[in-house]
Amino acid sequence: MYIVLLGPPGSGKGTQGNLLSQKTSIPHLSTGTLFRDILANPDHELHKDIQVIKEGKLVSDEIVNKVVWDTLKKPEYDKGIIFDGYPRTVAQAEALEKMLESMGKKVDVVIDINVTREVLLERLLGRRSCPICKRIFHISQGLEKCPDCGVPLIKREDDNRETIMERFEEYEEKTAPLQSYFKSGSVNYIEIIVTESSRTASSVKEEIMNKLFELGLVGK
Ligand SMILES: [Zn+2]
Repeated sequence: MYIVLLGPPGSGKGTQGNLLSQKTSIPHLSTGTLFRDILANPDHELHKDIQVIKEGKLVSDEIVNKVVWDTLKKPEYDKGIIFDGYPRTVAQAEALEKMLESMGKKVDVVIDINVTREVLLERLLGRRSCPICKRIFHISQGLEKCPDCGVPLIKREDDNRETIMERFEEYEEKTAPLQSYFKSGSVNYIEIIVTESSRTASSVKEEIMNKLFELGLVGK
């Protein structure tokens, strides 16, 4: 099964990708992680092509699609992929559908995690991270130091109200065409609306699993 996860930064999309992967045994593919691996490997044929990431720029559709195509062909992704961070544009979505079609496959379902901006603000403004192991915590956990590393937790400089709102608006603007593209197509579309910041990751996962079951995509 090929799943596309959509959701703004802070929506818990990555967490859901991991939880769904555990539940369904379909590998979770974060393109962010994929790119970081290529950046760390100077021998990779696309190493030079993706250096723009370091300047905070986006990799071209052509290069992203090539990375995804190389990944799709790997035997460990034969049974499906939970895409996280891809596609980001309509051009990438069209490319993905073409690539899958050439393999006799298709996007089975899009899962759109729609988090209100209030929830997003509360989550991101309270986010603290460990400078050593990079683990993310929330002030509601009442921790001052990383339980593993023992160093004080820090707040990311770009986790302020203004930057969060900018990121959110940028996401909405860029993703709206992608949402309409998938909604107007033949692909199954699941929308999860999160309006409470206290909503747990496991309750979101349960809602997703129930909807996948209703669509006949997973068993009970
Ligand atoms: Zn740590």
